[in-house]
Amino acid sequence: MIEVHSSDDVGCNYTEEQYEQKWVELVNGYLKQISNAFGFKEVTQACDYIWLEDLEGLLDSKKVVAVGECGLDITGRPSSKDFEKQKDILGKQAKIAQQKRLPVVIHCRGNYDTSNECLRCLTDNLPADHHIHRHCFNGSYAEYIKWKIAFPEVKFGISPFLLNEIKYPQFRVLVCKMELRDLLLETDAPYLPGADGSTGSPLLVKDLAEKIANPHNVSTEEVARITTDNAKKLYKIKEL
Ligand SMILES: [Zn+2]
Repeated sequence: MIEVHSSDDVGCNYTEEQYEQKWVELVNGYLKQISNAFGFKEVTQACDYIWLEDLEGLLDSKKVVAVGECGLDITGRPSSKDFEKQKDILGKQAKIAQQKRLPVVIHCRGNYDTSNECLRCLTDNLPADHHIHRHCFNGSYAEYIKWKIAFPEVKFGISPFLLNEIKYPQFRVLVCKMELRDLLLETDAPYLPGADGSTGSPLLVKDLAEKIANPHNVSTEEVARITTDNAKKLYKIKEL
């Protein structure tokens, strides 16, 4: 099973080797391979454009399979100037992803308008067949369809929101309507908790697969197989 995980932990505080070691310890015995993505999100006016040059260098390092997380986020109530900068930096990262032939991991938090702005930044800078991962998707069915029309190869990360039916009842309804070929499993550990409120772990991917299996009338193994294939295709991972 592939866990597509987005972490803010790596930053500049860890070397690639230290980061990998951290994950090996966390999911000891279950980890076969780790790949990385680098990007900027939630940028403000303080974000220096020269960082984009650093990003290009990082993306050339081994085991990098994507640009991201990057995207738009209005949950911190950015000023209109900051939001414009978010869009600008997102567009520039999309261009870098296109040049380097790398998929883009999109962090999009806000409302339907934020999603539309985000989509516009991407359609302005990427061809329709570009590979996109909508990380921790919790939007609407209309949003799901709109992104699929714009980018037929887009995949949607299904996170532990799905395990919390009391807090996110509509999300389960939405996932039932989404096609399995569009889904990835991801935990965003340790930020998103498990069903019992426990600290999130990459091992929650199994719970996610079980939760998706029943309404789609397939086995947990089939969900694991399909979402693994989706992740391998999206990130061009040849073998595990
Ligand atoms: Zn995120």
